[in-house]
This record gives sequence, C-alpha cells and structure tokens, in this order.
Amino acid sequence: MSLYENTLAQMKKAADTMSLDPELYAVLEEPMRIVEVHIPVRMDDGSLKVFTGYRSQHNNFAGPFKGGIRYHQQVDLGEVKALSAWMTMKTGVVGIPMGGGKGGIIVNPKELSEGELERLSRGYARLIAPVIGDQVDVPAPDVNTTGQIMSWIKDEYSKFVGKETPGVITGKPLEDGGSLGRNTATAQGGMYVLDKLAEEKGIDPASASVVIQGFGNAGHFMAKMLREKGYAVKGLADSRGCIVSDSGFEPDEVLEIKKAEGSVVNVEGKPGYEDVRTCSSGEFVEMECDILVLAALENQITGENAENVKAKYIIELANGPINPEGDAILQEKGVLVVPDILANAGGVTVSYFEWHQNVNDEKWTAEEVDEKLTKIMYDSYVKVAENRDKYSCTMRIAAFITAMQRLDTLWKEGKKI
Ligand code: NAD
Repeated sequence: MSLYENTLAQMKKAADTMSLDPELYAVLEEPMRIVEVHIPVRMDDGSLKVFTGYRSQHNNFAGPFKGGIRYHQQVDLGEVKALSAWMTMKTGVVGIPMGGGKGGIIVNPKELSEGELERLSRGYARLIAPVIGDQVDVPAPDVNTTGQIMSWIKDEYSKFVGKETPGVITGKPLEDGGSLGRNTATAQGGMYVLDKLAEEKGIDPASASVVIQGFGNAGHFMAKMLREKGYAVKGLADSRGCIVSDSGFEPDEVLEIKKAEGSVVNVEGKPGYEDVRTCSSGEFVEMECDILVLAALENQITGENAENVKAKYIIELANGPINPEGDAILQEKGVLVVPDILANAGGVTVSYFEWHQNVNDEKWTAEEVDEKLTKIMYDSYVKVAENRDKYSCTMRIAAFITAMQRLDTLWKEGKKI
C-alpha cells in the first residue's frame, strides 16, 4: 500500500465512523492544487542540473495551506500528497486557523555545496512564488531543510512581491523573524499530551520507564523533559545504534557524548555507565517499558514486530512510525497509541504562532508561547479523548474525527464552493 493509500484508508475509516458527509469526503480525497516544478541550477563545476520539486495544497477551508518542504532523494508526488493531507488533519486536530500543504524536492542535499543549495532553494522559491504567500500557503522546514533555507525562500518570495514578507514561511532563524520556542515545540507538545495521558491513566512519572527511538531535535528534547518530570529514561537510540540501562540516562550527558563522538552508543564503557549495553534496533522497540516514544522514522512498528512490543503506551513524535498492519496488532493487544497528528502537532502550532507574530508585527515572549501551546495541546487531547470514547475507537481514528469535525463545520457554513 502506498503512503497516499494509507492516508486515505485512515481518513476513510474516520469518515465512516463519524458518518461524514460523502461530498465533503470526496473533496478531501485529493489535494485542491498540486504544482510540479523543474528547477535549473548552475552547479559549482559549471554544469547545469534540473531538479524536480512539488508543492501539494491539500485543503484551505480553515486558513492558508501549511506544511513543510522536504529535500530528499526519495521524495515523490504520492508522498508529498499524503503528507499534505496529514497536515490538514494535524492543523484540524489542534484547531489552528490553517490548512494543509507539503512540498518537496528530489535531491540529496548532502551532495550539494552551500552555494548549490542556496541556488536550488531560491530557484524553487521563484517557481512556487505565484502560489504561496502569507495569506495563501505558508511553508516550513521538514526533513533536511533548515532555518537558513527558510530565510532564502522568504527573501526570494519578498523580491517576487516587492515587499518584505516574513509571514510567507515559518521556521526561520530567530533573528530573521522566527519565534521563540520553535526548537522545543514538537517535544514540548508531545510532553503536554503525555501529561494529559498520565492524568487520565494514572501514570506516575516516578515509577514509569520510557524508551525513546531517535535522539535528534524531537527525541532529545523529549528525553530531557521526561527526565525533568521524573520519568526514568531507560533506552535511547539513534541511526548508529541503541543503548539501554536499568539505572537510566541523563539526556544532556548523553548529548554531550553524542556531539563529541557521533552517537549515543559511544556512552557504552564510559565511567559511570557500567550497566549500559547496546542492542539491535529490532530488540530496542520490543524492550520492556511503560512508554515507548517513537521520534525517528516512518514504519518502525509493522506487522512483523508489533506482536512483540511490550510498552503499554506509545507516543508518536515521528510522522507515521507505525504502519496500518502494526497499528491493528497494537490495538488488538490493548497498547494505547497517541497518534502523530496529535502527539507531534506542537511543531505546527508554534509555526502558526510564528506566522501570527509576523503578520501582526508582534513579538511574543517564551512564556507567552508556552502558555498558548499548553492550552492548545491540553484542549486537543481532551477533544480527541472525548471522540475516542464517543465513537469507541482508537486515539488515531478519534484524532482524524476531531479534524474532520472542524472541516465539517466549515463545510456546512457553505462558504467553501
Ligand atoms: P532529526 O533529524 O533531528 O532526528 C532524527 C533522529 O532519529 C536522529 O537522532 C537519528 O539518528 C535518528 N534515527 C534515524 N534513523 C534511525 C533508526 N533507524 N533508529 C533509531 N534512530 C534513528 O529529526 P527530528 O526533527 O527530531 O524529527 C524526528 C521525527 O519527528 C521525524 O519523523 C519528523 O518528521 C518528526 N517531526 C519533527 C518535528 C520537528 O519539529 N522537529 C515536527 C513534527 C514531526
């Protein structure tokens, strides 16, 4: 099943469960607009290369299309479409006034020089400039795209419209119109959702163990916040390997070692870490623990390994870390999965805050950002849990239903076609 077919299957299940108006479902089945671009780039050696890119604008009932731009050699149109539909669902779950979009370029950015990357990003921006804008479509970073790339795109778009327009894109560096709190937003949002889950299920941080796959932006900050709450972080993993310890890890200490030596696995054998052992990634997701946080890649839990998962709760900070077969098995086993479109929506929420500050010429303090994020994440959890109970379904389907209820309200207002 392709990623797009997966996404449609999830949407269809939610639509059937809540008896969504079939006409609205038909509208949601395809993005409203897809743009394909071919970007000529002068390479450092004087040759010319033409790169293919996309922007998929799935839905804008609630506000401008919103979603990241991915640079990866495996980007394809189906993936971009699926991710754009997911963004409609994500902005819907948290109820921010934005829709769903996603973009991508087929490229391995690690093979480009800084100059080539800049020319590629500016070329892409010029080609999509006619269909983006701070009231139209507001991109953001995604896999392999950075604050610097967002600044180049903002700059190129501003030249196109003849006016500095910081609100055309989010995820910019702080000094170029970015928001405080964006770096930690995804993990912080996941933490707030876990707070509500703990409250509902009576999880005591002092006696609960957590294992975290992925130790990048989302995974490291989540590990740090979990420790601050008193959870024991007993397993950490990055792309080079996995470490486990009965006595637990201090995430900042592990980060120092990873920064200096390349991976979390370099902790093994260091003084003070005598009980640390490494294990395979297969063993890692099957570890004995209360909470498993997935903060790395797609398709980590599938029909092949779901049966062996021992965690009671799973928090999906990554997008799509559990495939549909894995999901069905976990449901059968009674594992409660907090789905990506709720658990990692803190990121897009603070992106929306950045856009809001840009278009209204405001600057919020870190405390203001945090206060607003807390309320949105807590309220979203409650809405999803209510739908879960009302429709006797999983948190995943309930999250899709929550998003669709908002679309349905806007649809019924009759302003959309
Ligand atoms: P990142 O690149 O900073 O970190 C990814 C981490 O995963 C790295 O530590 C990497 O070593 C590790 N990893 C890669 N392959 C692995 C494997 N096979 N096993 C274990 N670890 C592996 O990325 P990030 O920003 O932290 O994003 C992680 C996930 O969260 C992605 O799915 C991303 O789409 C999602 N997400 C991130 C944000 C955000 O704001 N950062 C927002 C929403 C969703």
